Amino acid sequence: MEEKDFLKAIKEYIGALEELGVSFIYLPDELKIAEESKREIINREKIEELREKVKKLEKKIDKEKLLKNLREELGNCKRCKLHAGRNNIVFGEGNPEAKLMFVGEGPGRDEDIQGRPFVGRAGKLLDKMIAAMGLKREDVYIANVVKCRPPNNRNPEPDEVAICSPFLIKQIEIIDPAVIICLGAVSAQFLLNTKINVSKLRGIVHKYKRSNLIVTYHPAYLLRNPSQKKNAWEDLQMAMKLLGLKIPKKK
Ligand code: SF4
Repeated sequence: MEEKDFLKAIKEYIGALEELGVSFIYLPDELKIAEESKREIINREKIEELREKVKKLEKKIDKEKLLKNLREELGNCKRCKLHAGRNNIVFGEGNPEAKLMFVGEGPGRDEDIQGRPFVGRAGKLLDKMIAAMGLKREDVYIANVVKCRPPNNRNPEPDEVAICSPFLIKQIEIIDPAVIICLGAVSAQFLLNTKINVSKLRGIVHKYKRSNLIVTYHPAYLLRNPSQKKNAWEDLQMAMKLLGLKIPKKK
């Protein structure tokens, strides 16, 4: 019986009792017990909800701790020749619980000065790309394949990638994002272990371990080639679909 039918039946029953002159109804213990059990169930549900929240928080704290330990392990790294020209190591930053992770190639001039990834002109464009997806920078995690600036912004060399990349691999393992967006050829070719260029890698959902991987153009390339922004937006929309984010309608 549905709740409304049940209430109607009770009302009718009480009405009938009143007509018979009954002015007092004895509530059997079963009803009181049922009321108490209901309260208990609600409390149990609340406790379960709280437990879930605590679990999520513990997971976040764990990831923060693991990333902190990894940064400590990197230390004042001199493992490859890039250490010689750097001002700051750019480890990476963002939400340890991020569902979306961006991976670039290496720090540029502004990043080297500030010790933070994507903070120069290309970084501003990346911020706009993130905002276009309906996200904030604090929602995502951003890292690079190499953590020190290559001289004159050249691409990192294979030996530098080989030495530094285990730190990126561990960052991905810890964050375990649903989607990785590779910004440019260096990160895409490294994570997909290929020599194929970006224009052929983009437009496809690849896999990297447990994560989906999308390839798009590096924001610095987009600043030089604005006509490719349309394609980059298509790549971002592909990632949005995978993340279950709402894609804005065309105006
Ligand atoms: S690029 Fe990586 S491996 Fe090379 S010195 Fe910097 S942190 Fe160390």
